[in-house]
Order: sequence, then structure tokens, then C-alpha cells
Amino acid sequence: MGDKLNFEQSAKVIAENSRFVAGGVNSNFRLGMQPGPLVFERGEGAYLFDVDGNRLIDYYCGMGAMVLGHNPAGVRQAVKEQVDRGILFAGQAPVEFEAARIICERIPSAERIRFGSSGSEVAQAAVRLARAVTGRRKIVKFEGHYHGWFDNILWSTAPALNAGGPEDAPVPVGGSKGQDPSEAEGLSILGWNDLASVEARLAKGDVAAVLMEAAMCNQGAISPAPGYLEGVQAACRKHGALLIFDEVITGFRLGRGGAQERFGVTPDISIFAKAIANGFPVAAIVGRADLIDLFATGGVLHGGTFNAQPVAMAAMIGTQNALTPEHYERSSVYGVRLRDGISDILKEAGIKAQVTGFELMFHVAFGLDEPARNYRDMARSDKKGYSLFSLALLQRGVRVLERGAWFVSSEHNDDVVDQTLEAVRSAAREVA
Ligand code: PLP
Repeated sequence: MGDKLNFEQSAKVIAENSRFVAGGVNSNFRLGMQPGPLVFERGEGAYLFDVDGNRLIDYYCGMGAMVLGHNPAGVRQAVKEQVDRGILFAGQAPVEFEAARIICERIPSAERIRFGSSGSEVAQAAVRLARAVTGRRKIVKFEGHYHGWFDNILWSTAPALNAGGPEDAPVPVGGSKGQDPSEAEGLSILGWNDLASVEARLAKGDVAAVLMEAAMCNQGAISPAPGYLEGVQAACRKHGALLIFDEVITGFRLGRGGAQERFGVTPDISIFAKAIANGFPVAAIVGRADLIDLFATGGVLHGGTFNAQPVAMAAMIGTQNALTPEHYERSSVYGVRLRDGISDILKEAGIKAQVTGFELMFHVAFGLDEPARNYRDMARSDKKGYSLFSLALLQRGVRVLERGAWFVSSEHNDDVVDQTLEAVRSAAREVA
């Protein structure tokens, strides 16, 4: 990969435009990464092209959204055709019904659907619906799981180990200044992957819903322990709580039917966003017909000017048309080759690391002796060491999230994987 890349032009553009845009970024999650926020001119396949003229192999993949890579032709075409037909009708369009039918056919829990524009929003819809149905307030939420940035749910997403209380009785830790502290009372925070604690909490009889990433992908890429999802589902049924899967990351990434199909557990309600439309702002809340229909007939409000926006719906259909079984087969071969290749290289370089997760989304954590089972394990990883490694990769033309997640698309083919592994080898030598 030759000399290290530099990112001076990005830094300059960000500095200039911080006069207009706070911090030069429009999401706080784009701040703080080394060597600073980047500015991109173009995306194509597995690559992003930045204003410094660098070509980067991209494993952010739109924070998980670009399961087909950047700018897939089918999605582009679908969008162009819809733009010519019209942009927003504040009414219904055939394109949204076609989109709804596809999701209901693909997702096991989806008897009914409502569309929204972001994962944060549909998480709100799910929480509201669960409270309306049960007449209870408490939502069980797990440490390290992220369900959006709103006041009532941004708790204990990545708490400092010394702030979260005892491991078997975590206390809620807010994620932002200005958050209404009373919102924490609507939650009950537990450690994930521990069935006994869920059973004990639900037995109190005041829980509206258990909300979880069915595989924990915001902090690590951790599978549910055998029997855990089934056990939580049984406990929910026994104690009159709903089970909600947040499939914003896992949806269309752990397989076409999401984590629920992969692990064989069908929740009452689930939410999707990110990869559903390969980078267009589409989200969905799906679930049992009797529940989702309450948005129409049960006095439970769900609204949004941009819900089922026709151009985004067309993008969603274009995406789903490309998400064939062959897409998953092909991409998975690349993803597994990459994941296992990274693991081998780090081992050879003498770097203690755990590479865990799935074919199209995996996680690399430094400094752990064993794969993490939950957030507390993950929080003990060597974040600083990994951050140096991710910077070394970027300087070699490979863009990965500093928190350890790698998102793979169908464009990350053998050639891209070869280039990546070469960069990994060189970066590992630098940081070992
Ligand atoms: N749920 C999960 C599991 C997520 O990872 C995210 C975003 O990263 C969200 C919800 C929120 O989605 P959005 O950023 O579209 O609001």
C-alpha cells in the first residue's frame, strides 16, 4: 500500500465548515474518530473517495446500511424512475404497498408493518405500542444495546465500568447532557445474555416489554447464548410482557429474515432500518397483526411526514430485489474469508484479540482472553490499542470503525479482501 495516506484536505474542509455546521458533522457519531471527520466526494462498490484524493476500502458501509455496497445500479435505477413519477404525495402510493408486501414475506414476525424514516423513530413507536397494549410502563433494556438517541431510551448504551453499578444490578447511565433524568424510571436495565435475571425481573409483573438487539452488535458482535432468546420469549409470555427485537443492524445482514430467522425465535414486534434500503432513510416497525393494527384502530399514534416516502420506498424495493439468496451466499464467503484472515494475522503478529460475529458483520476486540458474552466483558477490551490499529488501517486505505465493528457488503470481493488483509498485516506489524 506504499506511503501512508494523509487527510489534510478533509481537516481543512471540516474546519472551514464548522462555521456553519456544529463540529462540521451532522451526527455526533461522526465526531471523535482519528484523525478527524472525513469528507467524501463519491462512493463506488467497496470504495469511498475522499477530498484528499484517497481511495478507501470502506467497512463502515454507511454504519451498516450499505449491504450492497456504494451506489448499486439497481437501487439507482429504481430511484431515478420514482423521482420522475413524483417525490412526496402525503397520501398512499403503490410503491409503498409493494415494499410492505416484500418485507412481510421476508420477515417471520411481520404480519403487519408501518414504515418510518429512522431506527430511533421506530424504536419509539415500539415502546409506545408496548406500553399501550400492556398498560405498563417499564421496558427492560440491556447494557450496551443501542436503540436510538431519544431521551427515554439513551440509557446505559456504553456506560463506563465504574458508573454502571454492580454487574448483577446495573443502574441506568444517561448518554447525554440535557436528558430528562425521570425517563430512566421507565426502564429496567439488565445485563444481556443472562436468562435468570430476565426471569426474575419479569416475575414482578410490571414490565411492558423486553427490548433487545437479538444479537448484540453495537458493542461487539455477540450471539445470544443457546436457549437465551427462547427463554426470554417464554418468560415474556408467562408474565404478560411483549418481546421486541431491534433488528436495525441485524436485519438483512444476519440473513434475509434477520436475527429472528437465523435464531428461530419470532418476537411480537421488531424494528428495522439501515440495510433495509441500502442507505436510504427507511425504517419499519413490524409484528403481530393485532398489535400493529392498533396504530390504525387502537388510538396509538404513529405519524411522520416522510413515512413511506416514495423515492425511499423505490430504493427499498431495489435493495430487496438484489438481496437474493445468492447475494448472501456470495457475500458470506468473502466475509468469512476476511474475518478469519484478520484473526489469523493478528494471532501471527502476537496481538491478543477476539474476532467474533457473523459473515457480513463481525467485531474485532483487542486485549480479551475470551470472546465477550455481554457488555461488561466487551468494556474490558483494549479500546486504545484498537483505536491505534484502526488509524494504522486508515493510513493504509482501509476505513474501519474505531469501536471494532466491520460491515461487509457484496462488493467486498476477493480482490478487496486481499487488499484489506495486506493492510491488516502491515498495520498489525506497526501496532504489535
Ligand atoms: N437500533 C440499533 C440497533 C442501532 O444500531 C441504531 C443505530 O445505529 C438505531 C437503533 C437507531 O437508528 P437510527 O440511527 O437510524 O436512528
